[in-house]
Amino acid sequence: MERTFPECRGKVLFVHLVRWNIGIAQFPPGRLREMTALRKQLEGWRELFDLCGDYLDGLSSEGALRTGEEAAERVTNHLVRR
Ligand SMILES: Cc1cc2nc3c(=O)[nH]c(=O)nc-3n(C[C@H](O)[C@H](O)[C@H](O)COP(=O)(O)OP(=O)(O)OC[C@H]3O[C@@H](n4cnc5c(N)ncnc54)[C@H](O)[C@@H]3O)c2cc1C
Repeated sequence: MERTFPECRGKVLFVHLVRWNIGIAQFPPGRLREMTALRKQLEGWRELFDLCGDYLDGLSSEGALRTGEEAAERVTNHLVRR
């Protein structure tokens, strides 16, 4: 705790660690590389149907929001050009 959060040094009363591996999605090696390649391909995607969601970027709310913004920008650009 004190190594990761140095500002807590000297203030930690106790540490209780729970490992919950079964509850966390474990991707095989290479998964993030595949998702990066898919997102690169999507940059050239020109359809009204699009993809977004946390699975495209590391399983976080921020990833879900960012990929949603990217999909919305692609669809908007596509509609503007039509
Ligand atoms: C316990 C827990 C804690 C988390 N804590 C954090 C955190 O601290 N910070 C963080 O950044 N992220 C956290 N996350 C991850 C974060 O919640 C997700 O990454 C994010 O919500 C994914 O958003 P999404 O829109 O891609 O998918 P989702 O939020 O899963 O949305 C998918 C939607 O599609 C709907 N749906 C599914 N199938 C169908 C269907 N067939 N037809 C119609 N609708 C359908 C679902 O009902 C759902 O509303 C946590 C997740 C969990 C489970």
